[in-house]
Amino acid sequence: MIKDLLSGRQTLSFEVFPPKKDGEFEKAYETLDKLAALKPDFISVTYGAGGSRSKQTAEIASYIKNTLRIETLAHITCVGNKREDILSVVNRLKENNIDQVLALRGDRPKDMGDEQYETRDFAHASDLITFLTTQTGLHCGGACYPEKHYEAFSMETDLKNLRLKQDCGAEYFVSQLFFDNDYYYRFLEKAEKKGITVPICAGIMPITTANQLGTTVTLSGSSIPKALSDLIAKYGDCPEELRKAGVDYAVRQINDLKQNGVGHIHLYTMNRPKTAGEIVAGIR
Ligand code: FAD
Repeated sequence: MIKDLLSGRQTLSFEVFPPKKDGEFEKAYETLDKLAALKPDFISVTYGAGGSRSKQTAEIASYIKNTLRIETLAHITCVGNKREDILSVVNRLKENNIDQVLALRGDRPKDMGDEQYETRDFAHASDLITFLTTQTGLHCGGACYPEKHYEAFSMETDLKNLRLKQDCGAEYFVSQLFFDNDYYYRFLEKAEKKGITVPICAGIMPITTANQLGTTVTLSGSSIPKALSDLIAKYGDCPEELRKAGVDYAVRQINDLKQNGVGHIHLYTMNRPKTAGEIVAGIR
């Protein structure tokens, strides 16, 4: 169980996303084989926005768990799903021997009307966590936000809601990506004061293409320190130089976290084993 892995002093885990098309599974398996060789403690698999591609999440998670024999964490979101939809996703996971999930609310899909949004079966991730732990026996983790979730009025209210997720049964948290460790250290202090006692994994994403800043990073709401924006400005026109600089930045970030006692690192691999391998080599 992931909870047991995180009871140790140090872990390194990876996040991958499932293929967008059915014809891309072989390539995804090759990517996973290469990531497995780096010996992560567990690998998490994302869930398509609004509940799309849940079948692909289960298929990739199953390959990780049943073929590679590595612990896996299947993400699941509830914003676009009824109770029965969630139960069918749970059944598919259980058929594949998967009982560890990262239980998320998800972002409101653009085409979801107000009435549908306001009458959704699960209002918050904490409701999904309560349902999954009490009704299905799955083990849940949840998401946390070192720079606050974008909808939260304040860090204080966000932490109160985080504590609720722990009280509802979240066994650990995985953080949103961040590039400035000081935010993370301050967040850990505040979380401790709020009574968050479960392990927290620090989410690190290497910036390896200039495009990432326009998409994933902007959506995450994470601040970009000047040192990182300078790198992107300097190497923006040289993809391989930018990739190497992004790896170097992530390695320095992780080593600083480790030196400051952060034991659990969750690497957003973006399905790039070469980059993940270079980071692992740099931090061990
Ligand atoms: P919640 O915990 O419900 O929080 C959402 C907001 O509601 C916060 O502002 C919170 O403060 C507030 N809130 C929570 N509980 C209450 C309450 N009881 N009363 C009032 N307000 C409350 N998205 C995907 O679509 N697929 C993925 O695979 C995926 N993986 C992710 C992995 C990680 C590690 C992270 C950090 C995010 C991931 N996301 C994913 C994005 C996530 O779905 C969004 O950030 C979403 O907007 C919030 O999800 P949540 O589970 O944190 O929601």
